[in-house]
Amino acid sequence: MKKHNHYDLVIIGAGINGAGIARDAALRGLKVLVVEQNDICSATSAWNSRLVHGGLRYLEHKELGLVRESLRERENLLRTASHLVHPLPLMIPIYASNRRGPTIVRMGMLAYDLLSYDKSLPRHRMLSRQQAAQKAAGLDQKQLKGAAQYYDAQVTFPERLTLEILLCARENGAEILTHTPVKRINLDETNSAVSGVRILNRATGEEEDIVSKCVVNVSGPWVDQVLTTSGHTLPRQIGGTRGSHIVVAPFSGAPQVALYAEAEDGRPYFTIPWNGLFLIGTTDLHHEEPPDSVHATEEEIDYLLNSTNRLLPSAQLERDSVLYSYAGVRPLPYVPAGQPGTITRRHIVHDHSPQITGLWSIIGGKLTTYRSLAEEAVNKVAAAQGWRLARCSTHHRPLPGARRHNARELEKRLCANYGLTSLAARRIVSIYGARSEDILELLSEAPELAENLSPETGAIKAELVFAMRYEMAANLTDALMRRTMVGLGPAAGLDALENAVATLCQHLNWDRHTAMGQADEFRQYVAHTLRTQDP
Ligand SMILES: Cc1cc2nc3c(=O)[nH]c(=O)nc-3n(C[C@H](O)[C@H](O)[C@H](O)COP(=O)(O)OP(=O)(O)OC[C@H]3O[C@@H](n4cnc5c(N)ncnc54)[C@H](O)[C@@H]3O)c2cc1C
Repeated sequence: MKKHNHYDLVIIGAGINGAGIARDAALRGLKVLVVEQNDICSATSAWNSRLVHGGLRYLEHKELGLVRESLRERENLLRTASHLVHPLPLMIPIYASNRRGPTIVRMGMLAYDLLSYDKSLPRHRMLSRQQAAQKAAGLDQKQLKGAAQYYDAQVTFPERLTLEILLCARENGAEILTHTPVKRINLDETNSAVSGVRILNRATGEEEDIVSKCVVNVSGPWVDQVLTTSGHTLPRQIGGTRGSHIVVAPFSGAPQVALYAEAEDGRPYFTIPWNGLFLIGTTDLHHEEPPDSVHATEEEIDYLLNSTNRLLPSAQLERDSVLYSYAGVRPLPYVPAGQPGTITRRHIVHDHSPQITGLWSIIGGKLTTYRSLAEEAVNKVAAAQGWRLARCSTHHRPLPGARRHNARELEKRLCANYGLTSLAARRIVSIYGARSEDILELLSEAPELAENLSPETGAIKAELVFAMRYEMAANLTDALMRRTMVGLGPAAGLDALENAVATLCQHLNWDRHTAMGQADEFRQYVAHTLRTQDP
C-alpha cells in the first residue's frame, strides 16, 4: 500500500541497482518510491553468475578503473553483507592450447593484486602442473601446464542481497510497490520536464498518477521500452546481451574450488561450487528479443556441457544432468557493431536533459558495483536539483542481516532454544543472518512451523510465513524463488509445493483453491524460467 502521492524521487525497477539507489536516497533523507513491475530481484539481478568480483577479464580491455572500483566494492560487500557474501577460491588452469599462456595469466594476476592492494583476501599464487592437478584432480591433465589460484567473492543469493537493501530503504522511509508496472513517464505542460509516472495496480486493474520531479529509470534491459512511454523519441541506450547458466548436481571430478577456464571457443567461463550444486556459465550473445522471454537455448546448454566435459573429462555431463538452466540479459550500452565481450561493463548514469529534465537512466553496471553506482546516481540527481543532502553512508553501514552477530553463536542458540538441527540452523543463519531469530519467534505462536517446508533444501515452514508477512512476498512464487530460496534447490522448489499449500491455508488463512492456483502458477514459472522440462 502506498502512503503518499508526492515523492522527491521515483525509481523504476527493483533490481539491485534500483534497490541501491532507493537505499542511498532514503538514508540521505529523500522521500522515495520504488515501483517494480514484477517482484524484487526477479530479472537480471537474479540471473547472473553470482560473483562479487573485480572482473579479471576487464583487464584485457584495459578497464583498470572499473576493476579497481569493483575490487573496492567487493571489500565493502564482504564487510557490510557478511552473511550473504563470502570469499570464493578460484583457479585458472593453463593449457598449452590456451589463448592466454602462463605469462599473460601471471601479469593479469599481478595487476589484480595490485588493484586490490587494500583487500582482506589472500593474494594469488601460481601453481605448477603437479600442484594444479592435486588441487583439482578432475582436470584434463593432457597439455596442462599449471594454474593460477586467486580469490574473489560469491553472493549465493543476490535475491536476498537485493531484498535486504530494500528492507533497509524501507526502514528509512522508502515505499516499495511490487507487481506494479510503470505505464508512462508523465511530463509537465512544457513536454520537456518530468512530472511523475503513471502506474498500474495489477491487483485492482486501476491506473494512478504519482507526482515527482525526479524519476530514475533503473529498468535494466527494459530501459528503452520505459523511455518510449515518455512520448519522446530518444536515442537507443541498451544493447542487451544474453548470458546463460546451467545448474548440475556434484559430479565425478567436480572441483573443490571455482574454475575459470577457456571454453571450447576460447571464451573464459566459470564452473562454480554454489548452493550445494554447480553453477556453470556463462554465454554472451546479442539479444534483440523482448527481455521477458529470455531463456537458455539448447545450443547454449550444449556449449556449456561440452566445454565442461572437455575440461573435466570424468564429468560426462549429459542433457539430463542439467537440473535447471537460466538466462539473463545484460543491460549494456548500445553499440551498433562489435563483439559482445568487448562492450564495456562500466555503468553510465545518463541524464536525459535538456530533452527531458528530471529523468535519468541507468545503463550497464554489475552486481558488485551497485553501491557506488547508487551513490553516483543520487549525487547527480541532488546536484541537478540543487539539494544539499547528507553524505552517503552506505560504504560502512551493514545490511539488516549483517548487523552485529556472531554466526557460530547464533547457530548454537537456534539449536538450543528452538531445537533445530545444526544443519538447519546453519542454513537459516547463512540466509537471514542477524534476522534469523525473528523467523523462529514465529514458533512461539505455532510450534509446527518448525516442520520441513522443502525436504531437498531443509527450509522450514516458518520461513514461508515470514516471507509473506514481513518480506514483501506477494505470492508463492516470490516466496519460493526470492525469499526462502527453495526455488533454487535441486528440485527447483517443486518438492515444497504440497507443504507450502498446507502452510498457506493453515497459517495465512488462504482458501485451498487460491493456494492450489498459486502452486500451479509456480509450476508454470519454473517450467518457463528455469526450463526444468525440455522446451
Ligand atoms: C549472465 C550474466 C552474468 C552476470 N554475472 C555477474 C556477476 O557475476 N557479478 C556481477 O557483479 N554482475 C554480473 N552481471 C551483471 C548484473 O547482473 C547486472 O548488471 C545487474 O543485475 C543489473 O541490475 P539492474 O537493477 O540494473 O537490472 P534488473 O535486475 O534487470 O532490474 C530491472 C528491473 O526493472 C523492472 N522493470 C522493467 N520495466 C518496468 C516497468 N515498466 N515498471 C516497473 N518496473 C520495471 C524489471 O522487472 C526488473 O526487475 C551479470 C549479468 C548477466 C546477464
